[in-house]
Amino acid sequence: PDSEALRRASLRYLWMHNRDWTQMAEEGEPQIIESGHGVRVTDSEGKSWIDVNGGYNSVNAGYGRTEIGEAAYEQMVNLHYFPQGTTTVPMAKLAAKLAEITPGTLSRVFPVSGGSEANETALKIARAYHKRIGEPGRYKVISRVGSYHGMTAGVLWLGGSPYQPRHDYEPIYPGIVHAPQPNAYRSTCGGETPSECAVKCAEAIERLIEFHGPQTVAAVIAEPVAIPQGAVVPSDEYWPMLRQICDKYGVLLIADEVICGFGRTGKMFALEHWDVVPDIMTVAKGVVSSYLPMAAAIVKEEVADVFAGERNILRHVFTAAGHPVAAAASLKNIEIIENEDLVENSAQVGAYFKEQLEGLAIDHPLVGDVRGIGLLLAVELVSDRDTKAGFAADARVPERLNDKFKRQGLIFRINSNILNMGPPLCITKEEVDEIVHAIDISLWELEGEMGI
Ligand code: PLP
Repeated sequence: PDSEALRRASLRYLWMHNRDWTQMAEEGEPQIIESGHGVRVTDSEGKSWIDVNGGYNSVNAGYGRTEIGEAAYEQMVNLHYFPQGTTTVPMAKLAAKLAEITPGTLSRVFPVSGGSEANETALKIARAYHKRIGEPGRYKVISRVGSYHGMTAGVLWLGGSPYQPRHDYEPIYPGIVHAPQPNAYRSTCGGETPSECAVKCAEAIERLIEFHGPQTVAAVIAEPVAIPQGAVVPSDEYWPMLRQICDKYGVLLIADEVICGFGRTGKMFALEHWDVVPDIMTVAKGVVSSYLPMAAAIVKEEVADVFAGERNILRHVFTAAGHPVAAAASLKNIEIIENEDLVENSAQVGAYFKEQLEGLAIDHPLVGDVRGIGLLLAVELVSDRDTKAGFAADARVPERLNDKFKRQGLIFRINSNILNMGPPLCITKEEVDEIVHAIDISLWELEGEMGI
């Protein structure tokens, strides 16, 4: 292809994510990606790259899975679409499959097209559930600072992350209350140890429920492992405590497994690490490895049953929901994840990856913390390990590192001073070595330039 012509067209007509168009007019920008296989993608100039973030931490089965393409094609020519008021063969099978692989009585699947829609759906279900059971005052939703639940106008307010400047979109969606994030490296709820931090952060949620009055609180929503502050894995106490607190006050627990689900953390679903079953689980990304748009709110039978009967129906419709082509692709994707044991690969190669990253901390004073689980990992960079201070904006650390990573053939999405990693789950130890070597070289260069 004529890369320059495509670049000019993109710069002129395409509204890209989180990028400044003027800045993108640099040579070679925006990158045009043409093909992919495994953990690698190739650009329009024939250069191969490792995608350290696997799309948006979403390409769990890896790039170039022709089987998924074939399943989608077959469905496309057979029946490309039919609305969700009826159903289709792949959507019926996908709902049954999701009910089978999710824990406990999570079994009623409301399909949608993306993670934001799934969380919007979960919020509506949570509020409507309380109305249906005669608790009309329960509308507040507790989420956490340093979380991300999507960009649509409702769930935007649940998040509290640097990717989501919110002042442009005031006024705030009503009834959102924020709790602290159990980030032991930068604890804001006190506690010396990860375990104390987790307990105090869970207790903070209980205090919020009591302060607002349980009769006003509909739900708590949280990601099992939160990304905006860099793969924050709470200590083991946290999730069982949240479950118990929600049960105590009759509050629904919504787990946002949009990133964590489908093997990302080394279990099929991250809450399995703590044997906790939420009332509603939202999934997207890995359910279809981003081959097509598919997502869902998966609801416990006991909650969903409240919507049975003509007067109780949940009036909630999306044209593209339950799209049969996306459902066929999802089924094939889940089959690959199961048949190739990608969940176990995520656990094992993820542990190896983390070890190698921890090794970098020995040589590189810029490495403040290494955290994460499975193939959801993060390195937090600091200018001073003792104070944990970040970097002045004019030091342009993320931009400079990004340039260096590019020269090493890595596509990396850096969020401020945090390197988040979520490669395809089919990654090998050799590919991990390549990534870690490239990070090592890039950090040496940066430290040299900074005189560290
Ligand atoms: N929830 C979490 C935890 C996410 O990471 C994301 C996306 O990154 C979303 C929700 C929103 O998903 P989508 O971008 O598909 O709307």
